[in-house]
Amino acid sequence: PVSRLPQVGTTIFTTMSALALECQAVNLGQGFPDFDGDPRLMQAVKDAMDAGHNQYPPMAGVPALRQAIADKLLALYGRAYDPAHEITVTAGATQAILTAILALVHPGDEVIVLDPCYDSYEPNIVLAGATAVHVPLTAGSFRPDFDRIAAAITPRTRALIINSPHNPTGTVWSADEMQRLADLLRPTDILVLSDEVYEHMCFDGQVHQSVARHPELAARAVLVSSFGKTCHVTGWKVGYTAAPRALMDEFRKVHQFNVFTVNTPMQHGLAAYLADPTPYLELSAFYQAKRDLFRRGLADTALRPLPCEGTYFQVVDYSGLPDAIAALPEAQFCQWLTREAGVAAIPLSAFHADGRNQQLARLCFAKRDSTLHTALERLKRHL
Ligand code: PMP
Ligand code: GLN
Repeated sequence: PVSRLPQVGTTIFTTMSALALECQAVNLGQGFPDFDGDPRLMQAVKDAMDAGHNQYPPMAGVPALRQAIADKLLALYGRAYDPAHEITVTAGATQAILTAILALVHPGDEVIVLDPCYDSYEPNIVLAGATAVHVPLTAGSFRPDFDRIAAAITPRTRALIINSPHNPTGTVWSADEMQRLADLLRPTDILVLSDEVYEHMCFDGQVHQSVARHPELAARAVLVSSFGKTCHVTGWKVGYTAAPRALMDEFRKVHQFNVFTVNTPMQHGLAAYLADPTPYLELSAFYQAKRDLFRRGLADTALRPLPCEGTYFQVVDYSGLPDAIAALPEAQFCQWLTREAGVAAIPLSAFHADGRNQQLARLCFAKRDSTLHTALERLKRHL
């Protein structure tokens, strides 16, 4: 075939953002804040530009930023990553995930993904010449089903991708679940790609279970995170990856011929800004308040919110709507909601390889309270 990705079209996020714009809908579809990052961070980047930090940085990232990331990983999760050899700054989590897969997965390998999952994983696996093996999360709870994961492992399994807190369902893995994963993988040499971009958004006292907290998992894991999420700057596309040296050596071989480096002034700005951990330590409380506001408002609609333990996404069940609407497949329901109610959402089916319909849609609450109120008023009026 001519196409490397024959099944792939335009992503659901692009499609729904375009429709939201066309319909002047409140865009609770694509995940991004409608407010700006901290002015101190903006100033730190401007200062970096004025100080002449505008040429290529070192391939693996500005040393001060790698050091700041290492300090954070040690302080929060207790693992000492060597910033010289075990941390690389990337162009967002998206590039980190693709680069890790291209560097570590071979043609003919299998990579296990847990459905529903983020839309970039499978195309990335296909580009590496490997096969994505889809294992569903437990129906209803969206928690990992270790029996099914175990049953999916074959001699060809090279890696497993995990994502906690989870996009789209907001599930947060427990320490016990991480331990069960470690137990399951112990007799194998399967790698773990841990997508932790929502690490600082865990609610109701939940503690983020980074692979970095679990020595056995960390030894076989590539950890990925993103400043886009943590600092409310999704358009900057700066993230990072942390992994043991042997894995990171391979990662960097691909990274240097992929992007080679990531923009310099943002890295300096972030390095200065991260010296104070307060903003990311307060992020969970910040988003928990928005989650609570949003869920309180949803109680006055026919949408039923599912549990939300983390991330800035709320999944809603629309089976309680009048039959004609409730019968719509998720993609059509989200289009109807955007056009008729003026609120854009993302169908959960977009995260399922089999496109299954469960009358579920994802709404993003990373919005100003006034935006959430406007969206809730519209939902109350139409649903
Ligand atoms: N993984 C997940 C689970 C995400 O939700 C996102 C962003 N929506 C990414 C990766 C990509 O992050 P970035 O914008 O830093 O590339
Ligand atoms: N990660 C964001 C989301 O899940 C979207 C990023 C993108 O548009 N690819 O909504």
